Amino acid sequence: MKIDADKCIGCGFCVRDCPVEAVHLRKKKAVIDQEKCTSCGVCFRVCENGAVVFERVSSEGAVQCDACPINCLINPGYMGACQRYFNEHGKLIRNMPLQTYEAVKNVVGPDPPEAIRRPLITAIGAGTTYPDCKPAPGIVHGRRNEVDVVTVVTEAPLSYSSLMLKIDTDVQVGEEGADVLVGKRKVGMVITEQYGSKMLSIGGVNLLTGKNGFVVARTVTDLANRKPVRLRVEGGSKLEVQVGRGPIIDGKRPDSMRVGCGSATMGLFAPLFKETADEVIVLDSHLTSLMSEHAAGRFVGTNPSGIHLKFRMSTPGRYFGDHGHGWGGTSIVNPLDVISEIDKNIARPGMRVLITETTGRNGALFELKEDYTLREIDLSIDAVNTLEAISSSCEPSLVAGVYMGGTGGSARAGVTRYPIKLTAAVHASRACLTVGGAPTYVLPGGGINFLVDVEQVKAGSFFWTPTPATICPIEYTMERDAYERMGGHVEVMKPFAVRPGSKNQA
Ligand code: SF4
Ligand code: SF4
Repeated sequence: MKIDADKCIGCGFCVRDCPVEAVHLRKKKAVIDQEKCTSCGVCFRVCENGAVVFERVSSEGAVQCDACPINCLINPGYMGACQRYFNEHGKLIRNMPLQTYEAVKNVVGPDPPEAIRRPLITAIGAGTTYPDCKPAPGIVHGRRNEVDVVTVVTEAPLSYSSLMLKIDTDVQVGEEGADVLVGKRKVGMVITEQYGSKMLSIGGVNLLTGKNGFVVARTVTDLANRKPVRLRVEGGSKLEVQVGRGPIIDGKRPDSMRVGCGSATMGLFAPLFKETADEVIVLDSHLTSLMSEHAAGRFVGTNPSGIHLKFRMSTPGRYFGDHGHGWGGTSIVNPLDVISEIDKNIARPGMRVLITETTGRNGALFELKEDYTLREIDLSIDAVNTLEAISSSCEPSLVAGVYMGGTGGSARAGVTRYPIKLTAAVHASRACLTVGGAPTYVLPGGGINFLVDVEQVKAGSFFWTPTPATICPIEYTMERDAYERMGGHVEVMKPFAVRPGSKNQA
């Protein structure tokens, strides 16, 4: 990498962001330590004055790392941009030895004993004791795996509750941060999307305690009970969602989620793409890929095509897309609009270009004419097979729901006279929290904030109350000794027994 001193204004952005501290300022001009520099390109990307000249120069003994798309050039005795790979006498080594599970298990923490992982009874149908200073409505003891076990249950009203809705689709539903409405009332917001899925947060204490609290509580409860719900994103789409089913977005049902981002799709299908066309573009709102520049394209022996894309480059062959209602969730409706330029010195008339997206739903094949324009031609058999290979590798588009609640408050008093001991027991895996018998993930740190997959909870187990709060079936299971030690309400404990004639009811 080089600095054009005439353009450098000494802002220091490159100094601030260089991952290996290879840049410093001297007399208000950036200077790069060429020994340390890995050619990662961060300085080039953050310089707002075009003062960094992107030039990958390999010096003697330097090794190119292929472990990620950055392809650092690492000099002997130096580290790559991610601080993982080290050039030791011309050989790249991972600078940390491979760790066994034994070596890290103290950090991972203990598993709860098998006997307490599931409750003796669930809280579904248990009812609630109010106020919480009374013992919980169900405290039973029994034996499991030769261990005396106690389960304490209650249907807890939780004001600190919400539901994360995961919608597996690349179809744009709305801007991150946009309000999610039922009718005209706000019940949630669009949160950052996850790999291949749009995410909505519904509910939460601030909305539950706001002026629309009742509809918020009802919406969280309906979704948790896997009922169909109509939502609208402010400035975005109309959604019909039901946990466990496919979503309907603006009246259309997306049939599949993407196979991966555009770059992952290139990595997965590069050998097939190479057989199909001279150049392939996979449109995606996250990362759009260009085969001839992409590491996977180079790996399968693709030649440069002279095609340039209008999106901003991340690393060679990987471009940050945009969001819209076009192909791959981008704004591109006419696929040729993604091409900014065709370099006539490199492009070859007759060359074929396939443009598709990460679901293989849309695909078009083009041929470069003598006048260097691309003209659409019929999809070849190879192109049809390639698109089919992508689409058949995609999972169906589904809606999933994760209920999130907090039970680190007053409800603990129904379990024990010393609530802090219950919190400590949960975090130390001496007490297991389940919801309707389903396992939970308890968030680290203070409190008892948990996540549960609502599809593992019997449908119809969640309720709401005009407090407003949602009502969630909560169970704590632990060894009897542990329950006695934490000051549990042992005086009201009853032996667990299945009601005569019924396999299912206690
Ligand atoms: S290319 Fe990367 S390592 Fe080299 S100076 Fe720029 S930011 Fe630092
Ligand atoms: S894995 Fe690390 S060292 Fe290797 S190319 Fe990527 S950033 Fe550089």
